[in-house]
Amino acid sequence: MIDSHCHLPWTIEKGGFADLEALKASAERWPEWTVDCGCETGEIDKTVALCEAHPDSMRFAVGIHPLEAKSYSDEVERKLVGLMSHPLCVAWGEIGLDLHGDDVPDLALQVEVCRRQFAKAAELGKTITLHAREADEPMLPLLKELPAGQKLHLHCYTGGAEFLREVLALPLDLCVGFTGAITFPKNEALRQNVEIVPLDRILVETDSPYLAPVPHRGKVCHPGYVFDVARVVAERKGVPPEELDRIASANTRRLYGF
Ligand SMILES: [Zn+2]
Repeated sequence: MIDSHCHLPWTIEKGGFADLEALKASAERWPEWTVDCGCETGEIDKTVALCEAHPDSMRFAVGIHPLEAKSYSDEVERKLVGLMSHPLCVAWGEIGLDLHGDDVPDLALQVEVCRRQFAKAAELGKTITLHAREADEPMLPLLKELPAGQKLHLHCYTGGAEFLREVLALPLDLCVGFTGAITFPKNEALRQNVEIVPLDRILVETDSPYLAPVPHRGKVCHPGYVFDVARVVAERKGVPPEELDRIASANTRRLYGF
């Protein structure tokens, strides 16, 4: 099993653990691999260091989250470009657009920062981890600017079926990640999204420390809960859990190249 998207330094901190070993010791299960995402300037070094300490079970993505768009600068960009050639770096992300709530950076700034990071990732041949939340309309034209075949993980998909169909039809090498959000009783529409995505384009993730799945709601989410997400995806796709694990793990390794 692979948790294809999580934030382990935040998870360790939020859970009050001394280190990753202590967090793992508290978990019933743990996936063989995690893809850790550092997407704020203050988190990038922590993410890289944690991954370097666990090269046999971790890979990392770094980028600047749309809610952090104001922190993007030439200097940050140079740092990210440098990290792209790190042997454990598998992607640029999570990057994209987020228009959820009132307290978000100006859309024009988000678009500019997203476009710059898209262009650099594409130029360097890196996979993109995409965060797109309540921003379907401005997101689509940016995705259309990407070169054909660009590898992209549409992470934590919680949007509608229409946008999902549109992005799946783009000439991109795009996979869709599902999180604990699909296990919440009220989210039947999200479970129906699972049915739209072909098996060979599905990833499972926790986005820990957020979105702990049923039956762990209210707890700090961690990568061990990815099995609960995968079980719901397997049910919806009508395949045994071990088959879903095999397919989603292969999809993750192919998309992220490890
Ligand atoms: Zn995330």
